[in-house]
Amino acid sequence: QWIFMGDKLVKKEEAVISVYDHGFLYGDGVFEGIRVYSGNIFKLDDHLRRLYESAQSIMLNIPYTKEEMQQIIIDTVRKNQLDSAYIRVVVSRGPGNLGLDPTNCLQPRVIVIAEELALFPKELYERGLTVASVSSRRNRPDVLSPQVKSLNYLNNILVKLEANQAGAHEALMLNDQGYVTEGSADNIFIVKNGTIYTPPVYLGALEGITRNAIIDLARKNGYEMRETPFTRHDVYVADEVFLTGTAAEVIAVVEVDKRTISDGKPGEITNHLLSEFRKIVTTDGVH
Ligand code: PLP
Repeated sequence: QWIFMGDKLVKKEEAVISVYDHGFLYGDGVFEGIRVYSGNIFKLDDHLRRLYESAQSIMLNIPYTKEEMQQIIIDTVRKNQLDSAYIRVVVSRGPGNLGLDPTNCLQPRVIVIAEELALFPKELYERGLTVASVSSRRNRPDVLSPQVKSLNYLNNILVKLEANQAGAHEALMLNDQGYVTEGSADNIFIVKNGTIYTPPVYLGALEGITRNAIIDLARKNGYEMRETPFTRHDVYVADEVFLTGTAAEVIAVVEVDKRTISDGKPGEITNHLLSEFRKIVTTDGVH
């Protein structure tokens, strides 16, 4: 396996970073997760835009243009001869001294890992996930914006742990006002009386690329699609609930805080959107 690191492709064993890298010391950096479907790098432009916007927001200079970065990603996928894969792009502040000050980090580090994907087991797509709401809140947009996909994922990890300890597969994160925001690394949708709802991102959700693709597909397929705030109660009484994300794609939720959603099976609209989604993943992107 070959990994892009620094300025070239190196063997996996050689892909090691300094203990002084501020990505390691402080979680100072940004990242993206991207899928490759049958040689098509899905929505690469959108992922690159989000990566550069995250970097701009934290004053991190990515030492490549978007075009160069696109080529690096394509080269990494090709070198590993991958047809379907998961790509992780990381840009860290780079090595510095032990102080927080990022100005002593002179060389941001770019890492691109492309590897075969360990998918959720197929049966989970057929049966659906269980979800538990957690006590940790999504960070407020006026502190560190949820739009920054930073290397600081401790809160997301803690909510995942909390949900797992409650016996659920995934977490449901609320904001400090109690509105539903998202999962640990997935956006949430609910369906009620044929209308599809997802929280507006200003409540404190990452503007997921899969989320936006599903909003698009929902409208194209004639569904009423709304970005509206909702609470846990609305989730409990929904006809359907599903999550979206690069890794998870579209996955049904059949239980939330021990409440069975509808008849406890993945819903019709969820299944329809998943099948529409699977149609665009091989064409909408960069080959
Ligand atoms: N929310 C968070 C916090 C995430 O980290 C992710 C994963 O990228 C998502 C939602 C889903 O976004 P996307 O569909 O762009 O993968």
